[in-house]
Amino acid sequence: MRLLSLLCLFCLLAALLSGCGGHIISRDQEIQMGRQSADQFERENGGRGRDPALVALTQRLAARITPVAQPPDYPYDIRVLDNKVVNAVAFPGGRLYLYRGLIETFDRNPDQLAWVLSHEVSHISRRHATKIIERQLGYQAIISLLLNKGDAPQIAGAVANLMLLGYSRDEELEADRYGLIYTHAAGYDPTAAIGVLKKFQELQGREPSKFEIMFATHPGDNTRIDAVQGYLKAQGWSGAYYRPDGG
Ligand SMILES: [Zn+2]
Repeated sequence: MRLLSLLCLFCLLAALLSGCGGHIISRDQEIQMGRQSADQFERENGGRGRDPALVALTQRLAARITPVAQPPDYPYDIRVLDNKVVNAVAFPGGRLYLYRGLIETFDRNPDQLAWVLSHEVSHISRRHATKIIERQLGYQAIISLLLNKGDAPQIAGAVANLMLLGYSRDEELEADRYGLIYTHAAGYDPTAAIGVLKKFQELQGREPSKFEIMFATHPGDNTRIDAVQGYLKAQGWSGAYYRPDGG
């Protein structure tokens, strides 16, 4: 184990010095770390949602969205979280949760959920989720987590908390934009994003306690709506093909 630790430290050092694509945490490590953290998060936050209709809807969305989010080729694993909070969360390497409360709040609307899911997928594909760990956790913590050492559960919990709180404003705006790109490429209506953002604003004012991560850290003003509208206009995605029934 000691030799492995030394090797690991050497790898980190080499990555820092040489760049190694500029990533401290490799793709395989992202996947391993993300799974460990997500497993613990899932156990502590209501467990995996098993409602067949919600699971089927989520899998349909995932099957269309994840292929257009490549590269990099992450093993996406998109699950329902049996939790009534209106939220979604993405872990490094491909694990992602749509909360039951989120799916119900949007009346299972595929276009609106496609954008939310695409937004979260882009936090993974753009490495935002991993960058939080690289920014916030010390190397020793990363090594401990990767080596499954004694304090790994504690660190896995810390990672989960970072996932809920840590994106920068720029990362959120980028995830909004990539969310539109993926939504469109997957054949859903990207203009549905406007309705999602307006709904979140409404919820934020009305039920602050029900309203956690995904949007608590997002700007409360119209910055995101304006940015999304600007991008839709620039792309000529006017919503002319909008299907009121969600398709
Ligand atoms: Zn986000």
